[in-house]
This record gives sequence, C-alpha cells and structure tokens, in this order.
Amino acid sequence: MKVAFFSSKSYDEEYFTNVNKTFDHKLHFFETRLDAHTVKLAKGYQAVCIFVNDKADAHVMRKLSQRNIKLLALRCAGFNNVDLDAAEKYGITVLRVPAYSPRAVAEHALALILTLNRKTHKAYNRIREGNFSLERLTGFNVSGKTIGVVGSGAIGRAFIQLLKGFEPHFLAFDPYPNEQLKNEGVEYVSLEKLLSESDIISLHCPLSPETHKMINAQNLKYVKQGAMLINTSRGKLIDTEAVIDSLRKKQLGSLGIDVYAEEEKLFFKDLSEMIIDDDTIARLISLPNVLVTAHQAFLTREALEQIAETTLQNISDFNNGQIAETNHVGRKHLGK
Ligand code: NAD
Repeated sequence: MKVAFFSSKSYDEEYFTNVNKTFDHKLHFFETRLDAHTVKLAKGYQAVCIFVNDKADAHVMRKLSQRNIKLLALRCAGFNNVDLDAAEKYGITVLRVPAYSPRAVAEHALALILTLNRKTHKAYNRIREGNFSLERLTGFNVSGKTIGVVGSGAIGRAFIQLLKGFEPHFLAFDPYPNEQLKNEGVEYVSLEKLLSESDIISLHCPLSPETHKMINAQNLKYVKQGAMLINTSRGKLIDTEAVIDSLRKKQLGSLGIDVYAEEEKLFFKDLSEMIIDDDTIARLISLPNVLVTAHQAFLTREALEQIAETTLQNISDFNNGQIAETNHVGRKHLGK
C-alpha cells in the first residue's frame, strides 16, 4: 500500500525502510505532524501512519476520509490522540501496535527511578567540572521499599518483573486486577491507599476521560511524604500544576517524567536555540528533584524493530482484508 508517515524521525525512516524490504509497501516520510493544516499531504496515499502527538481529531478524520484514506496505522500503543467515534463515522480502520516491547518502557521507568534517586545525572555533570564532592547526592535503598504500580497491563507487569530483584512490597491499582500477579504477592488496593503507602509510584495506565488528571490536588494530599512519582505513560494522567505544588510543599519528594501534558509543542524537537514558551515545563526543569525525558521510553532497537514489523504487518493484513482483532482500535475501547 502507499503509506504517508507523519511526525517521522530519522530512526522511523531507518527501521521502517529496513523492515519494509520484506513487505514492499510504498512508504513516504513526512517530518511534519498530522493536524488540520497538514492533512492535505495525505492526498494520493491509501493509508496514513502516525505517532503519539499527531492529531487525529474529528476534523482531521473527516479530511482523511475525503482523501479516501481507509486506514490509520498507529506506530504506537496509545490511541488517546485519535477520535474513535469519528473513525467509525468516516469508515477509517484504526490499527495499533498494542505491545511492541513492554520491557523497553519498563526499563526506562527504572532508569528514571535510579537516576533520580542516586543522582547520577548530577554526579556526571559535577565530575566533568572537577567537582568530586558528595554533598547533596544522598539517595535511598530501593530494596525493601513499597512500590505502587498504577495500571498492571503489559508495561505495568514488565515493570513489576523487572523490579522484583529489589525485593520490594508491590501495591497495584487497576480496575482489572491480574490473578497471576496476585498469586505472586502483588497487593491490589485503592488508588488512595496506594498513594499513601508507596515510596515509589509508577503510572502505567492509558489516558482516557476516566484517567485524565487521575493524580490531582485532592489525592496528592494522601501521598506519603517524600514519595517519588514516575510517569512514563501519558502526561495528562497528572495535573502538572498540582504536582509542582506538592513538590514545593515537600509532600512529593521527586518526579520523573517521560511524558508531559503539553508535550506536542516541545517533544521530539530541538529547541535548544529557542526561548521555550511554556512556563510550566520551565519550572519543572528548574526543580532539582525533577527529571524530564522527552518521550523516549520506547526508544530501543528492539522496540523500533517490533514497531516497524507490527505496523507493516497491520497494513498488509488490512490490504488482504484480514486484520488482527488484538491490534484493532474501535469503540469497544471507549466502553461502548
Ligand atoms: P495495557 O493496555 O497492556 O495496560 C493498561 C492497563 O491499565 C490495563 O491493565 C488496564 O486495566 C489498566 N487501566 C485502565 N484504566 C485504568 C484506571 N482507571 N486505573 C488504573 N489502571 C487502569 O497497556 P500498556 O502496553 O501496559 O501501556 C500502558 C500505557 O503506556 C499506554 O496506554 C501508553 O499511554 C503508555 N506508553 C508509553 C510509552 C512511552 O514511550 N513513554 C510507550 C508505550 C506505551
């Protein structure tokens, strides 16, 4: 099929071009993000391939259907940026890569925890300046601590498996508890209890109307003093202003984020020569106990290969009229 890629980066082009040797689709890579202004670029293609910050709202879906696009292939797991009602209305099939490498994201969450805790990023900078002081680098043992996992799906489970070596006590919050994890000693509790007892809280649930700002001023009051909050899922799961306030009040001890509520304007771009017109991210970056990465948790060789493999297979399957139901995103995902 003839496929237009949006928000394409050098690594997308490299991995997709390589894996496509066995599929032979016609791929065209646009660096620009898909939105109301750029949707016209889809003219003449049969399918559109997008990533996390492309905007597939009702207006864009209508424009895509007017350009005869029948397939929206997401090269990611999350689909909160797609209007699924509009997809159905305009007869556009939405396929995704439900689990390309849960370990890649889980390992990045662990990297954030260890970096924030043991301050290796600060030590690296200090030592480059000839500063060998250990002042203000004290961390804590992760071993034996209580770790709260919000969302125990593919990534949450991979995170738990990875952290078992620290022999922590695991708490989890998920409307659909996993029996196997329960048997392995993971204790499912309410979100409030998880927040009040965890030393480290890690978010691994999807963004939906239900989970939007699920970490907010009301429940941040319950957070154990000095706790670490890690978000590798979606920025809008947390009320960023409320989290900054909690950090200021020294309730929350530290924050590690790979995602940010307003990341579309910033992430995946080199803005090093620009004035960043976002006071919230500027404040976050200025705080000594905050670590921000720019949505890179998925970025491993293994994950990129798997993303390319599954996305191109999804496109072939659609072309052959036999889509994998596990990869199909529809109204069932909205609880309808
Ligand atoms: P998954 O569907 O396997 O698991 C999600 C889990 O969240 C499920 O068990 C579900 O029951 C649970 N859940 C749903 N609503 C919830 C709620 N209100 N409270 C608590 N739990 C709830 O998804 P996954 O593969 O584990 O991915 C999780 C999320 O990670 C994705 O939706 C995506 O937003 C994010 N993600 C981020 C990156 C990155 O690079 N930073 C990469 C991939 C995925």
